[in-house]
Amino acid sequence: MNTPPARSRGTIALLEENCTVCMLCARECPDWCLVVEGHTETGPPAKPGGRPRVTNVLDRFAIDWSLCMYCGICVEVCPFDALFWAPALVPAEGERPVEERDDLRQWVAQVPPPPALDPAAEPSEEAEAAARLESVAAARAPRTP
Ligand code: SF4
Ligand code: SF4
Repeated sequence: MNTPPARSRGTIALLEENCTVCMLCARECPDWCLVVEGHTETGPPAKPGGRPRVTNVLDRFAIDWSLCMYCGICVEVCPFDALFWAPALVPAEGERPVEERDDLRQWVAQVPPPPALDPAAEPSEEAEAAARLESVAAARAPRTP
């Protein structure tokens, strides 16, 4: 069997832990092929006297592949890195069915790692902030005699 290129758009993988049920992907999909459903749950406040925490819980995430154009807009707009392309081999004949969250979750293991940064690139703001925090923590750490 042929091996597809690592960055080919074979299927969409859902990293369910990152999904906040914000619905952005479903709203931005030009073909309305995404179904995202969820509900809210109320938990105890983080601190005594605080407001109860309300979290979104994902109930359903499905793609109708018969409508999908593989445009990648959903992957691009997801603000929480919950959607990725994975290089799956899709049958060339026959209609691809609607796939549910369990189908989409299984592809996460095949998502290739992001390409390495250009060695000449400036460090990211996140990396600089992390380095600053580390140096502050090191300066505050008690010294061993
Ligand atoms: S790849 Fe494009 S058409 Fe397919 S689900 Fe994502 S936004 Fe919709
Ligand atoms: S945009 Fe991302 S976080 Fe929001 S519902 Fe879609 S997959 Fe989940």
